[in-house]
Amino acid sequence: MTDETSYGFDTLQIHAGARPDPTTGARQTPIYQTTAYVFRDADHAAALFNLQEVGFIYSRLTNPTVAVLQERIATLEGGVGAVCCSSGHAAQIMALFPLMMPGNNVVVSTRLYGGTVTQFTHTIKRFGWNAKFVDFDDLDAVKAACDDQTRAVFCEAIANPGGYITDLDAISAIADEAGVPMIVDNTSATPYLCRPIEHGATLVVHSTTKYLTGNGTVTGGCVVDSGKFDWSASDKFPSLSAPEPAYHGLKFHETFGALAYTFHGIAIGLRDLGMTMNPQAAHYTLMGTETLSLRMDRHVENAMKIAEWLENDPRVDYVTYAGLKSSPYNARVEKICPRGAGGLFTFAVKGGYDACIKLVNALEIFSHVANLGDTRSLIIHSASTTHRQLTKDQQIAAGAAPEVVRVSIGTENADDLIADLDQALSKATA
Ligand SMILES: *Cc1c(COP(=O)(O)O)cnc(C)c1O
Repeated sequence: MTDETSYGFDTLQIHAGARPDPTTGARQTPIYQTTAYVFRDADHAAALFNLQEVGFIYSRLTNPTVAVLQERIATLEGGVGAVCCSSGHAAQIMALFPLMMPGNNVVVSTRLYGGTVTQFTHTIKRFGWNAKFVDFDDLDAVKAACDDQTRAVFCEAIANPGGYITDLDAISAIADEAGVPMIVDNTSATPYLCRPIEHGATLVVHSTTKYLTGNGTVTGGCVVDSGKFDWSASDKFPSLSAPEPAYHGLKFHETFGALAYTFHGIAIGLRDLGMTMNPQAAHYTLMGTETLSLRMDRHVENAMKIAEWLENDPRVDYVTYAGLKSSPYNARVEKICPRGAGGLFTFAVKGGYDACIKLVNALEIFSHVANLGDTRSLIIHSASTTHRQLTKDQQIAAGAAPEVVRVSIGTENADDLIADLDQALSKATA
């Protein structure tokens, strides 16, 4: 191919990272279902293990099918490299791992996927890491939360569950001032709707389980590096700037430059944490990425129609879709995600918690599942499921109050979805 970066998104989502198989000519990327790769000779093996030559050693580290997906997602996000892993949650740990030491903290938005709130509130403490939760619409509070132990700022571009849009430019200015990377979870927006690196993100994480795969078949995650952060500007990031004892004193940043973070993610992160994506999962996700823009356009079109219909329905108290003129986040759509506000939002049912439970039970096309970003329309009552482990205050701060349900609008016929909501709302509020 000529300069790949000059192609449009619709071309790159099909071609980036993939070439016809040099041995067989296979046009589709094969599933390289292998654990190990034969070394040419002992010198070749030594060079690979010393990171002097790039190649395949063992599939916990790298695999040709997974490598195609890594290059594709990195290209779509405008990054220099990416590391795929076994799930979105794995990607979050993998993203923080090169940055954090015991005693360090990450400043995070209160508006996050429920599982992320739990991971950051409880589990990362076992590593000696701490998360400081802040309302990311309060820029002074974000600024005040950054201290000399802060090593990253973390938010979602289009935030779960309400579909709120984060002012990435304003947050990245604060991260810059603090001398730490901004990490953006771009799962709900996808690189088709939002490109966080263009708004100052150093790292982008994904649950590829969702829209990138798009059909609810496999779990996966990805960490994309912009290649733009100067890891040696301070002594805050010794894993990347200081000699690495496990590689004979090699300094990642000095040796690999813009690719330091990606190489560290593979050579240390995947090697020692083992949160590897398998080639079957990479195959399903590659299939998904080929139609990403087509699906996202339909998700947005359907979400807009349904949000407008719900907003005008007397059985509904309010709708949080940022695409609606009434949303306080509407002004950010043009700046952060100009192709649309995604397919995810919440709405409050008159009758509260009990009516929400009845609604979920009465729907026929919508599936009641803990997932999002499927071609199928999905619904969940967050307060009794994904956000169940949170306190009531945390639920409200996260946008998962007891009276709201979260929908992930699929690519079905919008009129069918509206008819389904109509009959279920009647039963829920009877
Ligand atoms: C699902 C999700 C995650 C976690 O990803 P898994 O693949 O389920 O581990 C993280 N962030 C967001 C925004 C998600 O929707």
